[in-house]
Amino acid sequence: MNPITHFLLGWTVANIDSTLVRKERVAITLAGVAPDLDGLGLVAEIMTRGSQNELLWWSTYHHTALHNLTFALLVAAVSFISTGRRLRVAVLAFISFHIHLLGDVLGARGPDNDHWPIPYLMPFSDAWKFVWSGQWELNAWPNFMITIVLLVICFYLAWKRGYSPLEMVSARADGAFVQTLRQRFPKHRNGHE
Ligand SMILES: [Zn+2]
Repeated sequence: MNPITHFLLGWTVANIDSTLVRKERVAITLAGVAPDLDGLGLVAEIMTRGSQNELLWWSTYHHTALHNLTFALLVAAVSFISTGRRLRVAVLAFISFHIHLLGDVLGARGPDNDHWPIPYLMPFSDAWKFVWSGQWELNAWPNFMITIVLLVICFYLAWKRGYSPLEMVSARADGAFVQTLRQRFPKHRNGHE
């Protein structure tokens, strides 16, 4: 799946628990995008394409180097340590990471029909490569549908709880976004607010 879908999935996981604070939500959301850091080799690969010292970092490492249990545990540990050391943050970061892997198993097929197996036990073992023969393409309609549903959830949560992923960039932008939503769709007043 593309990074935007992964990001929105991570954000949804981060909102499972409404008691989390901003930095905990950030950690859990980023845990859902973290595996694709192994795709950054694409930059090096494009820049050196056709040269004598071609770096095939994308072809070699994407969907392998960081799409595995070892990195999942590391990401969960970093999430745990860098926030308030609450176990639930580590658990949700771990889940967020695994939903990324699941998303890639379901729908990340490339144009060359590559099914991108997920080598779950790397770098320790080649066993347990997750692959699904029904995997749809990266640009197939289920990914668009999933992204749209996640956006609706994201907007609803912003309206309901008063924060959105914009909080990661600017509290002001986030506040303005929530205010706009609530002006457009006023909350029912029932005397409790
Ligand atoms: Zn991925």
